[in-house]
Amino acid sequence: MSSQYADNSATTLQREVERRRTFAIISHPDAGKTTLTEKLLMYGGAIRSAGTVKAKKSNQFATSDWMEVEKQRGISVASSVMQFEHQGCVINLLDTPGHQDFSEDTYRVLTAVDAALMVIDAAKGVEAQTIKLLEVCRLRKTPVITFINKMDREVREPLELIDEIEDILKLGCAPITWPVGMGKDFAGVYDLHKAQMLKFMPGVNNLGDESIEVLDGADHPFLRDHYPIAHASFKEELEVVEAAAEPFDHEAFLNGNISPVFFGSAINNFGVRDILQALVEWAPAPRPREAKQRTVYPDAPDFTGIVFKIQANMNPQHRDRIAFLRICSGEYRQGLKVKHVRSAKPIRLDHAITFMAQERAHLSSAYAGDIIGIPNHGKLRIGDVITQGDMIELEGIPHFSPEIFKVARLNDPLRAKQLNKALKELGEEGTIQVFDPLEKTGIVLGAVGQLQFETVAHRLLTEYKIDAAFDRVPVQKALWVKGDDAHMKKFTQANANRLARDAAGALAFMSPNRAVLELTMEKWPDITFQSTREIG
Ligand code: GDP
Repeated sequence: MSSQYADNSATTLQREVERRRTFAIISHPDAGKTTLTEKLLMYGGAIRSAGTVKAKKSNQFATSDWMEVEKQRGISVASSVMQFEHQGCVINLLDTPGHQDFSEDTYRVLTAVDAALMVIDAAKGVEAQTIKLLEVCRLRKTPVITFINKMDREVREPLELIDEIEDILKLGCAPITWPVGMGKDFAGVYDLHKAQMLKFMPGVNNLGDESIEVLDGADHPFLRDHYPIAHASFKEELEVVEAAAEPFDHEAFLNGNISPVFFGSAINNFGVRDILQALVEWAPAPRPREAKQRTVYPDAPDFTGIVFKIQANMNPQHRDRIAFLRICSGEYRQGLKVKHVRSAKPIRLDHAITFMAQERAHLSSAYAGDIIGIPNHGKLRIGDVITQGDMIELEGIPHFSPEIFKVARLNDPLRAKQLNKALKELGEEGTIQVFDPLEKTGIVLGAVGQLQFETVAHRLLTEYKIDAAFDRVPVQKALWVKGDDAHMKKFTQANANRLARDAAGALAFMSPNRAVLELTMEKWPDITFQSTREIG
């Protein structure tokens, strides 16, 4: 971490920042994210028994029942950020919701972390949701650690999996461990750096270092005797890997170009220790963030934070919600007086919540890299900055091109005006994206996940007393368009029927299908079409 504050007065802050690791765990549903999260927490000593994280998942709600979602979410505030200590580091683990929960929030979580842990199901390889999440990581050059899970099952060939990650995700792979066998014949993993084989023992809890058995060298007689076939193919693969695979280069990892790859079995706690080790040793401490005005260094004494997620709380009538804020610099203490940059008003931070997995108490302090939850009544929005210092605007929370488009249909047509106002407010807050067509044909809503529409329907009803349903519209993609004034003027005139303004007034091209989009892009080479837009 580079800093301009390297004098003695800042050493406690510097030490605290330096030992933080903030990462998100990402995967396609069912790859084993929940299982791995739980094992990481157990390893870190934050929870004692399996089932703590899982239990929450098993009483999963039906997507249609929004109140249940809301209740569930009230509880899940605690499990969406988890903090624990490991080997002197304070580790902040952020969950990215999957399944029906998938929404813009999922993407935004990735803007609040310094690294990501990607879990791949070894039987399935790279899946759709992983591809989407990795796009966001690539955009931000986030370092990614890869865990290939479920080696205790009959899975795909490891070399094939590595090729797939490299081809589809465009991410270089540096295997750190390599599996010997799989399924019933899974003997363990070989650590390429230490030239040691970690023996797989199903059913052993593998939680302490003492329960991990190590065999020296790739040719250990135990392997030859007990796993002759698995060992023979392992030896062949090892030759290929050692000759062809990318070497692990820390700098390339930090730039998001190369991912260290580990194999294991989360359910058996196998390989979990390696991941924690990689996080502690290789994942970056909180990094500086760019503001429009200057760089914000994490160990700068002034507190600065950015809101990346808003969670409606139990009582929507009171606009009671929690803003999740990533601390970008300085230290939070209870009662801290800060400024809310967008409104230029002072606020006092009294009841922030931290996320110690053991007890979720009101905390007294937190440092850059940590996440705090601030209860508020709708004052804080996604992308808002609060700071003790000068009034800066931080960059880095983008809008993502939505994938589902709908229009609201009123059950009471007399409320049309109120509906427009309400949708604009929800759009500004970041609940959903709103696009107001230039030809005023009615606001189009865009989301990346279905859940966002349910959230909007519920909030319209409870907060605005508007009863609305949603219909699909023939829009497949919205891309933000830019160009110089002369070109934009011509483009806007020619395409007015397909253009709309988002909540911030930025112009987007609403394409009904790929053919129209491609034709338009060809016809207007001086216009750029972008699939993300920075908030601000
Ligand atoms: P998530 O949807 O990504 O959070 O996945 P879960 O953690 O819920 O796991 C999905 C399923 O895979 C569950 O039935 C787990 O028990 C199972 N699972 C997770 N890890 C492993 C593993 O290492 N081996 C095997 N055989 N099953 C696993």
